[in-house]
Amino acid sequence: MHNHDLTDDEQELAGLVREFADQVVAPRSYEADRTHTLPLDVVAQMGELGLFGLPFPEEFGGQGGDYFALCLAIEALGRVDQSLAITLEAGVSLGAMPIFRFGTDAQKAELLPDLLAGTALAGFGLTEPEAGSDAGATRTTARLEDGEWVINGSKQFITNSGTDITRFVTVTAVTGETDRGKEISTIIVPSGTPGFTVEPAYDKVGWHASDTHPLTFQDARVPEGNLLGERGRGFANFLHILDEGRIAIAALSTGAAEGCLEAAVDYAKKRTVFGEQLSTRQSIQFMLARMQLRVHNARLAWHHAARLRDAGKSFKVEAAIAKLTASDAAMDNARDATQIFGGNGFMNEYPVARHYRDSKILEIGEGTSEVQLLVISRALGL
Ligand SMILES: Cc1cc2nc3c(=O)[nH]c(=O)nc-3n(C[C@H](O)[C@H](O)[C@H](O)COP(=O)(O)OP(=O)(O)OC[C@H]3O[C@@H](n4cnc5c(N)ncnc54)[C@H](O)[C@@H]3O)c2cc1C
Repeated sequence: MHNHDLTDDEQELAGLVREFADQVVAPRSYEADRTHTLPLDVVAQMGELGLFGLPFPEEFGGQGGDYFALCLAIEALGRVDQSLAITLEAGVSLGAMPIFRFGTDAQKAELLPDLLAGTALAGFGLTEPEAGSDAGATRTTARLEDGEWVINGSKQFITNSGTDITRFVTVTAVTGETDRGKEISTIIVPSGTPGFTVEPAYDKVGWHASDTHPLTFQDARVPEGNLLGERGRGFANFLHILDEGRIAIAALSTGAAEGCLEAAVDYAKKRTVFGEQLSTRQSIQFMLARMQLRVHNARLAWHHAARLRDAGKSFKVEAAIAKLTASDAAMDNARDATQIFGGNGFMNEYPVARHYRDSKILEIGEGTSEVQLLVISRALGL
């Protein structure tokens, strides 16, 4: 459907990434999913297209675009392959963005160019076994000793933390106590730091080609200068990064919801049941119409939140609404598309089956649906 909300440049970008997704990404998706492998050569091509640099200024090797542009690219990838889309989303909004936003000039100059070129990835480690939705419950500690941070603890479910091109992870850690409780800071830990172990990858329900690991830290030492942003501001900084990331997850979800819709329309037109095309049944037509409705609402919701963000306005609640609306749309459309495909919908060779497994995490990662409802409730003064 033509999107009148987009400028000519945005339309062109969306079309370009869509074509790349269909021609380069899609033919690799089944095998990457089956073998649980992130195709790094495809990531490299995404880098060459400039996708990892979209929302950053040119002085660091970025494309000089905005967050909206990044989300357009993520949506176009998410329609075809959620694993590659989340690799881009996490690479930018969890890997590069914290450095861009909170890093010193030296940190930016050293770390950003490769991340923006897509030749390096970075992870962001917030979640711990005892601290997920309640992210402030962080137990990982970092104490200063002889000009070094000594880090102890563990993180779980960290995206992009263990690929061959992962350069570092940024972690939240308790660096002291204040009258208001824990002092939480963020620290950059390079891959290969002694005492920092990237544990074997998870056996996940979906997002098989996306890289996710538990991390452990046993007296891992990094220079004091690896502190990212102000000491004690780690938690607040992180919340801001997560708000923004929710818009990107909403865009990814919109793409997934649309991928399911397109596949289901196509299948319903081709499949004959009881001597007639499946698509002639009104119950199926209405199911598809509802799927279109969800895509439409999801897209409007993330467009709105992203435009607010890019205009420098407050977007916290709109991002929560977008994330909730779009992740539900993806999950509902994946379920309905799978139903329309019948038994074939349960076969991994059909992309709708992959969307069915992949979409559930959209309702969990970067703030669960319940956490989005908490944000919305608070804005109602509850
Ligand atoms: C594939 C994958 C990739 C991920 N990538 C990253 C990453 O790169 N970096 C990172 O830091 N984390 C990452 N995560 C972690 C993810 O963000 C957390 O799993 C998520 O925030 C939920 O935390 P939790 O798993 O501890 O669940 P919990 O917080 O234990 O929640 C369990 C249930 O309780 C509900 N709940 C919690 N609090 C409330 C409340 N106050 N009221 C009502 N219900 C509530 C939740 O909504 C959920 O349904 C990833 C997770 C996965 C699975």
